Amino acid sequence: MASFKCKDMGMKCAFEVKDENEDELKEVIALHGKKSHNITEFSPDMMEKVKKAIKK
Ligand SMILES: [Zn+2]
Repeated sequence: MASFKCKDMGMKCAFEVKDENEDELKEVIALHGKKSHNITEFSPDMMEKVKKAIKK
């Protein structure tokens, strides 16, 4: 089970998500980023941070 907490990215945000599938998890994170933080595109730099914040 992979999990992600937005606050681990340094955001003041209570969003957290868990998923069996890490790829699905990343999609949910990307969607949340768009809707809640106006992140329309994840740069490679940003993607690295997301990966590090994902706990397995
Ligand atoms: Zn968030």
